[in-house]
Amino acid sequence: MELEKERLTVGHRPDGSEVNLPVVRVQGSSRGPRLLITLSVHGDEITGHKSVWYLLDHLRKVTDLKGELTIISLVNVEGFNYSIRGFPYSTLDLNRMFPGDERGSLSERITARIWSLASKADFVLDVHTAGLCVPFVLIHPAEPLIRDFMEDVAYASGLTPLYNYDPELYDRIGLGKSLSGTSVKNGTPALTLELPGFVGIDQLGARAGFIALKNVMVKLGMLDGDYEEVDFLPVIRRRGMKRVKVSAESAGLLDYTVELGEEVFEGQLLARVRDPFGDALEEVRAPRDGFVVQINGFYRTFTGGKVATLAVEAG
Ligand SMILES: [Zn+2]
Repeated sequence: MELEKERLTVGHRPDGSEVNLPVVRVQGSSRGPRLLITLSVHGDEITGHKSVWYLLDHLRKVTDLKGELTIISLVNVEGFNYSIRGFPYSTLDLNRMFPGDERGSLSERITARIWSLASKADFVLDVHTAGLCVPFVLIHPAEPLIRDFMEDVAYASGLTPLYNYDPELYDRIGLGKSLSGTSVKNGTPALTLELPGFVGIDQLGARAGFIALKNVMVKLGMLDGDYEEVDFLPVIRRRGMKRVKVSAESAGLLDYTVELGEEVFEGQLLARVRDPFGDALEEVRAPRDGFVVQINGFYRTFTGGKVATLAVEAG
């Protein structure tokens, strides 16, 4: 397939240089869904770039792509340059600023431009990295029809399908204003992929991301081919699970007693919080039965900080 490359101008920096978003388009040979893949809305999350390199190599060999694929490889192009999650200068999180404002600040103009493409898509995949994690796919709250479809696609990705946080936390941290959250609210199915990668590109995570992107395209009818399994990283192949956050009250270093992907039971020790003298201040335990999908890659926490994310039975 032929790839088309373009840069979309969104504004200028104080020095007069242009801020633009790199876009790759792959036009299929026949009609089909329009899929939008976005990367690095958090500028320090880049594992998905290598997933996309694999995908583009694969698509170059394909002759019968159906539909149209658009990839915006750098949403937070400024944060990417300096490996910063938010927008440098203002430190705003672009993934809490959808649908944006095309007459607003530069960050609002970026999200508005992305939104203008996302709102025309039939499916949106927003690729992130989540530090030390098993690769997972987040399903945002939606009407039952679209939700069931998204769960099917999330499961078909080959990664761990997870419903998002409970509504109270989801709203409090503004996930409804993320790209996927806003897409789903407006009736466009969207999933957030979370790949491993703490600093830079996680090689196995990138491979898992590629398999997931390809599986989703097969599921959407854009590509022929077989479903491929991710068998080189822990994935939890179960439906109907959601993510819950487990925090510590004490601050300190984290001494984990569990591993990524491990099944845990209510009350089981996940980690001890230790002070700089090595003394244990707190034992952090699983609030429910579930699986460990993410641990804190810094291995240290402030008061009330996150220790782990668990996948637990939804509801
Ligand atoms: Zn992210």
